[in-house]
Amino acid sequence: MRHLEGMRLLVVEDDDSIAEPLTVGLGREGFDVTRVTTGRDALAAGSTDLVLLDLGLPDIDGREVCRRIRERSEVPIIVVTARSDEVDRVLLLEIGADDYVVKPFGFRELVARIRAVSRRMAPSDLDDTELRVVGALEVDLRTHEVRLASQRVELTPKEFDLLALLSSDPGAVFARQRILEEVWDAHWYGPTKTLDVHVASLRKKLGNANWVRTVRGVGFKLEVPASEDDVS
Ligand code: CA
Repeated sequence: MRHLEGMRLLVVEDDDSIAEPLTVGLGREGFDVTRVTTGRDALAAGSTDLVLLDLGLPDIDGREVCRRIRERSEVPIIVVTARSDEVDRVLLLEIGADDYVVKPFGFRELVARIRAVSRRMAPSDLDDTELRVVGALEVDLRTHEVRLASQRVELTPKEFDLLALLSSDPGAVFARQRILEEVWDAHWYGPTKTLDVHVASLRKKLGNANWVRTVRGVGFKLEVPASEDDVS
């Protein structure tokens, strides 16, 4: 699991009416966005964490740009195509795209795709070597071990992913939809009861329901239970 805030995005899009609101919106989400308008500039751009690539560019065909980026980099690429383009998933995969969205696309959908693609890329990230300490709780992202007051807590993989996400920013509220997207799947449209079941089980294993606080109508946050706080 990685922090997406501060993640560098290269937006390759010649159409201002699409690129401008997109750049502003993604900036608000905490991404560090650089926008270029041509294939040439995309190929000349410095290192980035993810490329959002329009296929219809004024100079070089977007597919060719995708292929050339992939020749020299493993950076995740999400291709943006117009509805009129023939979308050939196999071809997109062959030229090295990780995912694609079709215009007009919803902003939320795009952010979910960015998260999902980043999550798939995450295993080699430095973030995964982290040991997070929240009060008496330790979440070791490298070994996938959780300890509470030095005692091992056995979690299922999903429970671990859920705790890893919440512990990435203790005290911060994670929206239900975001948790579903990041821990389960970006295209999760099923019942959200699964999340509640996992939260209940995690609380039970942590021995105190207050570790995972419900924020009504929003989501959940990880917090040191009041009794653990009370050291004075
Ligand atoms: Ca275009």
